[in-house]
Amino acid sequence: MQVLKFGGTSVANSKNISLVKDIVGQLKKGKTVVVVSALGGVTDLLIESASLASKQLDAYASILKKIEDRHIKTIKELIPIKRQSRVLSRIKSELNTLETLLEGAFLIGEITPKLSDKIVSFGELLSSFIISEYFISDGMNAVYKDSRELIITNEVYGKAAVDFSKTDSNCRAFFKKVPESTIVLGGFIASSENGNATTLGRGGSDYSSAIIAAAVQATELQIWTDVSGMFTANPKLVKQARAIPHISYEEAMELSHFGAKVLYSPTIQPVLAKDINIVIKNTFEPEAEGTLITKTQNEKGKSVRGISHIENIALLSLEGPGMVGIPGISKRFFEVLSQAEISVVLITQASSEHSICVGISDADIEKAVAVVNAAFEYEIERGKIQPVISEKNLAIIALVGDNMKSHQGLSGKMFSTLGRNNVNIRVIAQGASERNISAVIDKSDVKKALNALHEEFFEENIKQLNLFVMGVGNVGSKFLKQVHQQKKYLKDNLKLNIRIIGMSNSRKMIFDESGIPLKYWEEQLNNGEKANREKFMSRVKELNYRNSIFVDNTASSEVSETYNTYLRNSISVVTCNKIACSSAFENYSELKQLARKYNAPFLFETNVGAGLPIIDTLKHLIVSGDKVLKIQAVLSGSLNFVFNNFNDQTTFHDVVKQAQEEGYTEPDPKIDLSGVDVMRKILILARESGNELEIEDIANNSFLPKESLATKNNTEFFASLKKNEAAFQKLYKTAAEANSKLKYVAQFENGKASVGLQQIPKGHDFYNLEGSDNIVLFYTERYPNQPMIIKGAGAGADVTASGIFADIIRIGNF
Ligand code: ADP
Ligand code: ASP
Ligand code: MG
Repeated sequence: MQVLKFGGTSVANSKNISLVKDIVGQLKKGKTVVVVSALGGVTDLLIESASLASKQLDAYASILKKIEDRHIKTIKELIPIKRQSRVLSRIKSELNTLETLLEGAFLIGEITPKLSDKIVSFGELLSSFIISEYFISDGMNAVYKDSRELIITNEVYGKAAVDFSKTDSNCRAFFKKVPESTIVLGGFIASSENGNATTLGRGGSDYSSAIIAAAVQATELQIWTDVSGMFTANPKLVKQARAIPHISYEEAMELSHFGAKVLYSPTIQPVLAKDINIVIKNTFEPEAEGTLITKTQNEKGKSVRGISHIENIALLSLEGPGMVGIPGISKRFFEVLSQAEISVVLITQASSEHSICVGISDADIEKAVAVVNAAFEYEIERGKIQPVISEKNLAIIALVGDNMKSHQGLSGKMFSTLGRNNVNIRVIAQGASERNISAVIDKSDVKKALNALHEEFFEENIKQLNLFVMGVGNVGSKFLKQVHQQKKYLKDNLKLNIRIIGMSNSRKMIFDESGIPLKYWEEQLNNGEKANREKFMSRVKELNYRNSIFVDNTASSEVSETYNTYLRNSISVVTCNKIACSSAFENYSELKQLARKYNAPFLFETNVGAGLPIIDTLKHLIVSGDKVLKIQAVLSGSLNFVFNNFNDQTTFHDVVKQAQEEGYTEPDPKIDLSGVDVMRKILILARESGNELEIEDIANNSFLPKESLATKNNTEFFASLKKNEAAFQKLYKTAAEANSKLKYVAQFENGKASVGLQQIPKGHDFYNLEGSDNIVLFYTERYPNQPMIIKGAGAGADVTASGIFADIIRIGNF
């Protein structure tokens, strides 16, 4: 005999029920027990209508109507006309009884647990009858059986305990005699010895099927549901989760105890005792292998087999000096919880015996606080124990695996993964069996924690980086293009999966939790919602993804002021915007500290020399113990362009204009020509070399006439350049006469920085600097005479974008 159980989604409507029939129809010969749930969602509707009725709210009737309509529709779609009226009249009569019960609750304005179970049991009563009739009408040798006549329980309504000796003998007697080959029963429902309807707890149809399978010593128990097995984590929250092919009873029990709803946790017990295999299969993908659950599993090497979680957990802690050494406190604590029918999901006790802490369901917390405080009233009054402390809105996350005990360092790996992702751990517990390590965390961190742990333990190979990009202009759009181009390469070669989850320009913003398709980002962004920096930030925080990176491709000071909030939320920041790093030293160093504290890198390689690896190289010199003695550099692509093209055949005005038009200067060219941009860059290099410097400390020997510096807009600025042409020509002439070229040089030495135009003689490293190239000479203790030189294109959207990209890869490899 084999037992098959079909869950709510599998029997949600006529279309799904016909799939169920196909599955049952294709089984090999032999007796088959089919246990079904209520039509998907009906149990919830029954509970809702009972609750409304007990509050004397008329709306209960419209819920009842919904329930009626669904069943009648299903019958009409499944059962041929000639059998329909028989089935309809039986179902309508059941529905009338249900209506009477609900009316009763409505009139009294109350619902007892006993009445609630009676009402709720209609879900399975109706579904099992309809399905049996459908099987029969389709020619199957099938019969309906009321499972309340087989499964006998006590009268703890809502979650009754099974009387196995009575149940087993009922089952054995019935199944031995029943002549039909397919027997259809409702799961979840049972009755007490007095004949009152009881239920086995939410999700209890799994349990019913296991009870029957054990009673008749079935060859196999098949649980048919809406996913292809027991997954490495809840597939609704972890996209990368996959079905576990083979798992042991204990592992399955542990995973389901800690929230893997695919199997109701009491289900394992009866079949375990009889060594009956369970297979979890998908009604909607019957060819998928599913999960096999047996006494032992054969995947010896794997340590962690699955991650599960329970939401809506509360912690209850009993603490106080009076607890030390007094025997019986724990006993009283657990006794009072058990008397109040509060089930304890997790327990921890500090070795000092100063406190006991338990995890219970959020819904039970008020009751628990009241009963525990009442039970320890005497000790609380005398200050021996403090009033019980409670905390809500938490969740338990658990790693499960039979072989965990033989692997070292798993908890370390678990906690460091959570820590790295800024998931605060409230309590930890590890079962003595070492089959489980669990942590209590904030409910809002569940998705992030699950995904981070899943990545760590199951996708060791692929790391996901979740990017939020602000600014998609020149640099930003090039960056997106590069990401799009390299996506596959990075996945294949560096095992990095880069996804752009959010992006914004100054007008619009969009978010796509599965990653914005980079082929169409422009179109999508144009149709996005109105841009708003604050909203963007709260959305990034809310999404709470692991490995989140905020990418700033703007030049906005307002955007740079948001970095600290991102970092405080463990969101890394990558920026080509120089404002933050060249702002007050205090702000710069705070950002660096936050990055360390919250494990969120703050990278800005492109602040100096665009894509050239200047800052990264400097960092490596310093961490390896080198000391910077002197920095000399040409750091302005724009000024280099201007002085490379300016001579006695041109005018300074025209060359600057050309530089502006070709995109080599900032929109306001004065920022470049006044030397402010170069000041910012040398400031950043000096700071990165370990010096506490402010922008005001940098000497700026400007070559611009005072008049040009004082201009208020581009028109005035260009006019002043024209007016002062003679002065510029003089600069050129003096240099040319000295066989030198003009270069705008930044320098840092002995704690002092300066920027200014210099005549560079032939033979100097700067002399032959082409186009808009940058060059940096690092004189250090290890490179005292011959400096380390970094040289190359130091401006342009493409190289800047690639510098940002490189920072992101650095984070990926972090
Ligand atoms: P049924 O109605 O068939 O009994 P349930 O809704 O009770 O189905 O259980 C199946 C659901 O369990 C899945 O749709 C999935 O959302 C959830 N689930 C939670 N954790 C897991 C897990 N580790 N593996 C598979 N499913 C899981
Ligand atoms: N119908 C019941 C519930 O929704 C039992 C089950 O489906 O397993 O909880
Ligand atoms: Mg279920």
